[in-house]
Amino acid sequence: MRVHYTEEQEALRAAVRDFARRELPPGFARECDERGRPPLDVYRRFADAGFLGIGIPEEYGGAGGDIVEITIVLEELARAMQSFASLVYRSPIHAGQGLLTYGTEEQRKRYLPGIASGRLLFCFSLSEPQAGSDAAAIRLRAERDGDSYVINGQKQFSTGAHYSDYVILATRTSDGARRHEGISLFVVDLKSPGITIEPIPTLGDRANGTNMVFYDDVRVPASNLLGEEGEGWRLLMVNLERERLSSAPISVGASAAALEQALEHARTREQFGRPIGAFQAVAHQLADVAADIYIGRLLTHDVAHRIARGERCVFEASVAKLFCTEMFNRAAYTGMQVMGGTGYTMDSDMQLHFRNARLGTIGAGSSEVMRNVIAKEIGLPRA
Ligand SMILES: Cc1cc2nc3c(=O)[nH]c(=O)nc-3n(C[C@H](O)[C@H](O)[C@H](O)COP(=O)(O)OP(=O)(O)OC[C@H]3O[C@@H](n4cnc5c(N)ncnc54)[C@H](O)[C@@H]3O)c2cc1C
Repeated sequence: MRVHYTEEQEALRAAVRDFARRELPPGFARECDERGRPPLDVYRRFADAGFLGIGIPEEYGGAGGDIVEITIVLEELARAMQSFASLVYRSPIHAGQGLLTYGTEEQRKRYLPGIASGRLLFCFSLSEPQAGSDAAAIRLRAERDGDSYVINGQKQFSTGAHYSDYVILATRTSDGARRHEGISLFVVDLKSPGITIEPIPTLGDRANGTNMVFYDDVRVPASNLLGEEGEGWRLLMVNLERERLSSAPISVGASAAALEQALEHARTREQFGRPIGAFQAVAHQLADVAADIYIGRLLTHDVAHRIARGERCVFEASVAKLFCTEMFNRAAYTGMQVMGGTGYTMDSDMQLHFRNARLGTIGAGSSEVMRNVIAKEIGLPRA
């Protein structure tokens, strides 16, 4: 199931896989999930090994590289621990690429070296109780007051806010004629007075954890505004293709892990005097998962190269997100079916895959939203 990468990219893959083998051993993902905390010590060692700076230019303390290298890192990490890949995604990739795209030189210098060295953790907060798929319905308000803005309102599902240093926060600074107008992005210090964080218990991705966050007269320097006031929606759209693509390698890596476990079980578990993998009904299910993963890898590879070349690929990136996150659900469902009762126990990684997979088709643009985007791209009228 090989897709062609350069020698340097294969060396990067091998190095990340080696790190994951040492630092994210079997059973570790389940321990972190049960504890409900991400392994921040491993995160810092990942940074010390130079991997966290991938995608961030050397002048800002990064290791260089582009979206192709980022997808390799995410796939290999997700193979060992999906939540760790998501943790790595949040600061250097989501926030890092955002700051690179729309931060001022001063903002890049202020935050990027800390992100690349693992000292600064970022999270991202757009969703609110009344603004999920309809993200432009946000109400959390930022009002200009002299050299600062004062923020009031509520965010829902701020993943990692309870251990992050900063949040990239989407706010409403005015009510434009169109709903997408009047949205502004800020970097907000999560230790600021007036911020209250309450955990939201979830089915999966418990190691990362998500939160309700309340802002009560939170004062933020005007220099923390990203881009121009009212330009937030356009900035959010700039990196959308990268964001959608990032779900794909994470789903490919986690699906590959689920397949490996199911294969091992199918080869060794005997019923009716033979390994269950010898039954065609079982073998075909696993063959379908293997075929899916191969397609997911091809998609990831193709879309990453398109983005690296600067091509517009809204259709392709949405297809990659849709296909790969749904594929992970199928892989985890099939894996549990093949492993029978063993896969259903809490001692098995399969139950963790099963729970984690569910989020992929809901968060960061649900499968329905991806289909809406694809429908528009193929020329269908909007609802
Ligand atoms: C564990 C977790 C972590 C998260 N982390 C973050 C985070 O860090 N930062 C952040 O900003 N957000 C985060 N989110 C929020 C996430 O992005 C939203 O859950 C997602 O955008 C969907 O919004 P919603 O949950 O409000 O569902 P809704 O938008 O209410 O959707 C409910 C259902 O209706 C469907 N639907 C809605 N509109 C349409 C339509 N136009 N056409 C067809 N179907 C439609 C949806 O596809 C879905 O099936 C997180 C969510 C979860 C569960």
